[in-house]
Amino acid sequence: MKGKDVKFFIKIYDIENSKSFIIKFTKLSFGILLGIISSFIISIILAIILSLKFVFIYIENLTLKRQNQNLKRYIAQIEEEMKITKSKLDSLFDITNNFRILAGLNPISNDIRNFGIGGYIRKDTAMDGINLEIKSLRKVLEFELRDIKKVKDIIENRNEEIRRIPSIIPTFGIIVSNFGYRNDPFTGEYKVHEGIDIAAPTGTPVYASADGIVIFAGYKEGYGLEIEISHQNGIITRYAHLSRVLVSPSQKVKRGEIIGKVGSTGKSTGSHLHYEVIINGRPVNPINYIILSDVIYD
Ligand SMILES: [Zn+2]
Repeated sequence: MKGKDVKFFIKIYDIENSKSFIIKFTKLSFGILLGIISSFIISIILAIILSLKFVFIYIENLTLKRQNQNLKRYIAQIEEEMKITKSKLDSLFDITNNFRILAGLNPISNDIRNFGIGGYIRKDTAMDGINLEIKSLRKVLEFELRDIKKVKDIIENRNEEIRRIPSIIPTFGIIVSNFGYRNDPFTGEYKVHEGIDIAAPTGTPVYASADGIVIFAGYKEGYGLEIEISHQNGIITRYAHLSRVLVSPSQKVKRGEIIGKVGSTGKSTGSHLHYEVIINGRPVNPINYIILSDVIYD
């Protein structure tokens, strides 16, 4: 080893033996030493990185396990909720069936309504199962909504039809003249009285006996001030000898609505309401159309 090749040296002094050693490094040996040291450092860094990675994986694994347990619990809760929802749906089906019967429709069995819903949720594909269950639940609800709406329309229409049939006394008073043949109070002639006469003080309210549309409101020879209502089912009602008319032609009226006031206009011998029910052009006995007593008058 030539002296000029030496790049560094380390002097070690042995105090006990009063000796000293000199370790000399050439460029090459120093390079080798540096290589060994840096490899060692890199190895340590790599080892630390790997250990950290393992720690992270372990923590991640723990979190996943906890999440998995939570998911299982959620799935069990959803299954329980689905069971409750299905039993509530069954109660809803029963109520709908009651209304179907009222509407004159056949009840639909729960099996048919529940078509596509039910079964169990497979654990391996729990989320897929839940998804399917919710989708079929939605379909069942959509069917149910359409069915309820259909039943509601039928009942409402029937209710409307019923409300268009004369069914209440059109004023409060005493029936002084019945429907049918009688001696005319003016001419004495024996002829048909086409309605009933209800005696009441002038100004007593007159009520529409059913829902309908006013087709005449004004003065007519013999009848005096009168109102005619079409109930749009071939039935017309007439309210005559009024002192006041409170509606006008083409106005919609409701059963129990005040349409005028009792009076004695036209051919009349005293304050009273002449009331007629005409079906397909023929007067019928209005007494048969005074059915309801528990109607609220306006
Ligand atoms: Zn009369």
